[in-house]
Amino acid sequence: MESLIDKINAITFFQKQIEHIHPLLKRCFPVVVATEAKLDIYDINSENTYNFIKSIPNRFGFIKSIRAAFPIQVYDNRIACIITSDIFSEKNCYATIFHEFIHCQQFELCENELKNTLKIYNDAKSKEDSMWEINFPFPYIAKEFIEYYETQQTPEMLTVLIQYRNRIKASLGLECYEYMNWEEWKEGFARYIETQITKEIGLSAPYPKQNPTLARDSLYITGERFIRALISKSADNSNIGILYETMYNNEL
Ligand SMILES: [Zn+2]
Repeated sequence: MESLIDKINAITFFQKQIEHIHPLLKRCFPVVVATEAKLDIYDINSENTYNFIKSIPNRFGFIKSIRAAFPIQVYDNRIACIITSDIFSEKNCYATIFHEFIHCQQFELCENELKNTLKIYNDAKSKEDSMWEINFPFPYIAKEFIEYYETQQTPEMLTVLIQYRNRIKASLGLECYEYMNWEEWKEGFARYIETQITKEIGLSAPYPKQNPTLARDSLYITGERFIRALISKSADNSNIGILYETMYNNEL
């Protein structure tokens, strides 16, 4: 049976198949495998091989089937992909890991700088609200959002989406628009890349086109769709900071 370290090292073999999709896929990040008791940190060396670095007690609370990206304080605050080992029983496990590596790239390249430009982030910071990304009261059931969300594919998709997004900004206000654009960029881009990866390796799309309930992940769906529409009209997505500005400015 393949050992855990072999499964982790398979990330680098998988990378060879998919790295041509986007320049940000050319880099691998530390991987942390969580159990109830501990966090095992693995990192990649200059020979492109993952090695076990160290274990630390899991004082963060155990989350079953976690797939996330977090900075690891005891590892020089480096951003890492956090998983539980059950991920390796999933067909698209390596596409999921590269989705988290995209979040690692966002964190290292521009996430903080962009976040600092947001009124909603600065307001949350002054209230010491670290959960604003989860708890922001976005009006998912507002008709302006539902119409945007439910838009069907048209030949003029990008123009239509831009009109709906302008309407959301005008009717629901700057804060909602900021929040929507933030979630669309952060999760939408990671999903866009993950979908490109699964297409490349012949797996089915990882996410549904629509969800039965309107919630935060509706913004992940609209984000991936908006990014896809922008890229189909040649928006620059090699620089994700510029992509964020393009999305925020809502024009191409
Ligand atoms: Zn994500």
